Amino acid sequence: MSRIRLLPEIVASQVAAGEVVERPASVVKELIENSVDAGARKIDILIRRGGISLVRVIDDGCGMDRDDALLSLERHATSKIRSAADLHAISTLGFRGEALPSIASVSRFRLTTREADAVAGTEIIVNGGKIDIVRDGGEAPGTQVEVRSLFYNLPARRKFLRSENTESRNIEHQLHLQAIGHPQIAFAFVRDDRLVFQLPPAANLHDRIRDLHGNELLERLLPLTGAGLDKIDISGLIGQAGVSRQTRAQQLVFVNGRAVESPVVTAGLREGYHTALMRGQFPVTFLFLNLDPASVDVNVHPAKREVRFRDPTAVREAVVNSIRRALEGGRGDWREKFRAPNVSQPSAPPIEPETRPIEVQPAFAQQIEMPPRVAPSGFEGPRKLPDTAPAEEKIDKEIPQQFQIIGVLNKLYVLMENADGLVLVDQHAAHERILFEELRRRMEEQGVPSQKLLLPQTFDLSPRDAEWVERNMSILQKMGIGIEGFGPNTFKIDSLPAFLKTSDPVSFMQRVVDDLKSASNSSSALRLGEEMIAKTVCRHAVKANDPLRYLEVEKLIQDLLGCDLPYCCPHGRPTMIQISLAELEKKFGRRSAIQT
Ligand code: ADP
Ligand code: MG
Repeated sequence: MSRIRLLPEIVASQVAAGEVVERPASVVKELIENSVDAGARKIDILIRRGGISLVRVIDDGCGMDRDDALLSLERHATSKIRSAADLHAISTLGFRGEALPSIASVSRFRLTTREADAVAGTEIIVNGGKIDIVRDGGEAPGTQVEVRSLFYNLPARRKFLRSENTESRNIEHQLHLQAIGHPQIAFAFVRDDRLVFQLPPAANLHDRIRDLHGNELLERLLPLTGAGLDKIDISGLIGQAGVSRQTRAQQLVFVNGRAVESPVVTAGLREGYHTALMRGQFPVTFLFLNLDPASVDVNVHPAKREVRFRDPTAVREAVVNSIRRALEGGRGDWREKFRAPNVSQPSAPPIEPETRPIEVQPAFAQQIEMPPRVAPSGFEGPRKLPDTAPAEEKIDKEIPQQFQIIGVLNKLYVLMENADGLVLVDQHAAHERILFEELRRRMEEQGVPSQKLLLPQTFDLSPRDAEWVERNMSILQKMGIGIEGFGPNTFKIDSLPAFLKTSDPVSFMQRVVDDLKSASNSSSALRLGEEMIAKTVCRHAVKANDPLRYLEVEKLIQDLLGCDLPYCCPHGRPTMIQISLAELEKKFGRRSAIQT
């Protein structure tokens, strides 16, 4: 007796539904994508009880005639592709012809649809995959799909649903993706009879983000520009350095208009942000990749969430480059912000750099040792300009920013004043950033100056640590750490980078190794390259709470503002925080005081 049997159509649909319809948010996704493909300009979404009891999506798209409406519920019925050849270059969101029959097979389903010029529309009611009613319907042109009691006929699936709140949140996330992906379409979202948001059609992504997330986020975003590679176009907005989240919820990536999760792009984002991102944090991105549809395969997974790139390396590099450029470009804005309040009088004669007045609050001046102003010793080194430079240029270069230092709090936070108000600089984080960039630059130029120890020291490590040091020996040496093997699991260290001021090189090395070990456990071993080691070395090179002299503080700030990424330390923590005058006014109740 034959044991192989063809599955009845309904069962086959339910099997397919297992992949396409995981949870209410997948229903929302498929329905909205259909509306987008239908050319909708306005999409209304209503859900009840986390979408489990009801999902309704209404669009003003092209609608369907009765034959098409019936066909749309057949498996593998689609208007979007015709042949296998079309699969190679998909430009619509849907193409599998699976969503509607799958959803209809696991719910109580109602479709009403009408073409713009049709006298009457069509209403179809399906229960658990069985068409029960087909009749004329009187809705407005467009399509309306209602999905009730999801998985009512598949109790096993229903059990896997999470709480209504969680399912609601998933739906909301899906709506954010769709709203950001299609700014020109108006969206309204009602949850349990409460209007959650109503988005008018937006002229561009910028406006859509503002409507959805508010101005505060928008102000902290930087624009992305094309990667320079003609085949891969990148646009969108990303969070500036220091803006991050604990989850991926705001890491949005679109490939040819489709929201996707792509390990290739994610890796590119991480690499692009690099030190601008705190460990374990996720960036905020609204990133749009556009490339030849033929070089992307979206037919990887039934939910079409994953994509495969024909040239993943090129895509990753394009992402890395455009993120880096955006982050570094964002620096200009900060420099602008860090200009001091307008104190200089235009009529004042040009000021010699060495003697320019620095406004120091008396308390601070007393507390720190102020070297004589005429011939300060703190300005030697690369910043000193040849005397032949014309006076004006001299000032420009010597004082890239004007800032007014107020003082130092708790031996750690530098207080500064700028046009916007108060700026707090974490001395420690700033120092790390400066050292790191310097170390990186020197390494590229093949030469970190190192300083011989008075006495070479030997030390032992556990076999595992020893192996790690062995493997990374050449990198350490490149960083100016004079280390070499000295017997099994024993090492000799005879010099350290010149910038490093430690009296105990052995415990310094031990701390660096420990730190790097914990890093390699938590993040992928891949990231433990030169940069990671450099970051760690810098962290341990900086000593906390070193009281700095005034000129040192000033130099620190200047060096910091000269960095590529001045506003966060190599580990992604902020180096400076701005507290605006407006915020202060609010805190002191001045605003309302003026009004009343
Ligand atoms: P796919 O989107 O992969 O083609 P679906 O099962 O999602 O498959 O939809 C089947 C077909 O039904 C679509 O190809 C489209 O022609 C039609 N359709 C679905 N939803 C709509 C809609 N909201 N407006 C107009 N046509 C629709
Ligand atoms: Mg579809």
